[in-house]
Amino acid sequence: MNEVKTSQQAIDLEDKFGAHNYHPLPVVLARAKGVFMWDIEGKRYYDFLSAYSAVNQGHCHPKIVGALIEQAQTLELTSRAFYNNVLGVYEKFITEYFGYQRLLPMNTGAEGDETAIKLTRKWGYKVKGIPENQAKIICCQNNFHGRTITVISMSNDPEARNDFGPFTPGFVSIPYNDLPALEKALEEPNIAGFLVEPIQGEAGVFVPDDGYLRKTYDLCKRKNVLFIADEVQTGIARTGRLLACDWEGFKPDVLILGKALSGGVYPISAVLANDDIMLTIHPGEHGSTFGGNPVAARVAIAALEVVRDEKLAENAEKMGIIFRNELRKINSPYIELVRGKGLLNAIVIKPFKDKTAWDVCLKMRDNGLLAKPTHNHIIRFAPPLVINEEQIHETVGIIKKSLSDLS
Ligand SMILES: *Cc1c(COP(=O)(O)O)cnc(C)c1O
Repeated sequence: MNEVKTSQQAIDLEDKFGAHNYHPLPVVLARAKGVFMWDIEGKRYYDFLSAYSAVNQGHCHPKIVGALIEQAQTLELTSRAFYNNVLGVYEKFITEYFGYQRLLPMNTGAEGDETAIKLTRKWGYKVKGIPENQAKIICCQNNFHGRTITVISMSNDPEARNDFGPFTPGFVSIPYNDLPALEKALEEPNIAGFLVEPIQGEAGVFVPDDGYLRKTYDLCKRKNVLFIADEVQTGIARTGRLLACDWEGFKPDVLILGKALSGGVYPISAVLANDDIMLTIHPGEHGSTFGGNPVAARVAIAALEVVRDEKLAENAEKMGIIFRNELRKINSPYIELVRGKGLLNAIVIKPFKDKTAWDVCLKMRDNGLLAKPTHNHIIRFAPPLVINEEQIHETVGIIKKSLSDLS
C-alpha cells in the first residue's frame, strides 16, 4: 500500500477516487485511543462525535479489540447454513442483558430497521390478523433510520429522498412529540407498529417532552400495535441509561440496536423481541450472510461487558449534567440553546456575523476538538462515554474559546 504522508494527500485521494456522498470536515485521522484521535501530522483532538455514537466505549478499547483479533484468528465466518460455537452464547448473553427472549442479528443499523419493519409486518399478518399486504407502520417526521430505499421511504428530508423514488408504501408519517397525532393515526385500520427514536439524533438531538414515550407506548398497547424503538444511536448507555426508553420505565416490543453494540470496531446490529413476535419469522424468510457471525458475536459480548463493567451509563448521566451546565454558562452570541440527555447533546447555533455551525466546527478543530454540524445550524456533542470530569472542563474551555475566536 502506498502510504499517504500528509493530510492533503489523503483528502485529494478521496476527492478523486471516492463517491462524493459525504462532505467531511477537513481533518485526516490516523490513530485513536479512548476519547482522543490524532491526525496524520500528529495533532491530538477530542472526539466529540464518537462515530455517531458507535464508539461509546472509547476508541480501540483493548478488551473489544482483543475479542475481535482472537475470534478472527479462530473462526471468522460460517454463515448461518451451519451452527457455530459462539452465536448461541451471544444470543443467551444479549437477551439476558436486555431482557428479551430472542435476538435476530444483523450488521448495520439500517438493516436492523428493515428487519424490525419486516418482523412487525409479519406479526401484523400472522398474529393481529391484518389482511394481506395492508399492514401500515406509523413513523415520525424528521426521523433518521438509515439509507436503504424502504428506510428513506419514511423520511421527509429532501436530501435523503430526492431522485431516489419510487418509495416503499405502508407508512403513516406523524409529527414527533405529538400525542394527539399518534392517537389519530392509531384510529386508522391495519396499523401494525409505531417506529420511533427515543431522541431524534440526526434531526439535531431533539429530546421529546418527559412522558411522551411512555404515553405513546401505552397508546400502542391499547390498540394492539407494536412499539418499535430505534435505539441505534440512543441505546447502549449514551443517554445515561442502558436504553433511552429506560428513562420512562417501559420495554419496547421490538428493540433495534447498532452502532455501539460493537464499540465501533465492527458493523453489528440487532433486533430483540419476545417469542410471540420473533417466532413469526421462519427459516428461509429472512437473513444475512454476515449477521451473527462469530467475530460479531464475540465483539458484541465484549462491548456490552465493557458498558456494564465500566459503568458507562452512570458516567454518561453524571458527565452530561456537568457538560450541559457548563455549556449554559457560556455567554456567546452564537449559542441559541443547549439540549440533550446524558452525553447525547447539541447546541443550536444562532446566525451571527454570517458565521455558521460549520465555521464553529472548523474553529473547534483548530483548537483540538472534533464535532460535526447536523442541518447547518446544530452541532452535536457526543464524546465517548469514558470521558472524565477534568476532560469535560477542558473541552468546554475549547468550545468557549472557539466561539470567542469567531466573534
Ligand atoms: C445511524 C442510525 C441508523 C443507521 O445505521 P447505519 O449503521 O448507518 O445503517 C439508524 N437509526 C438511527 C437512529 C441511527 O442513528
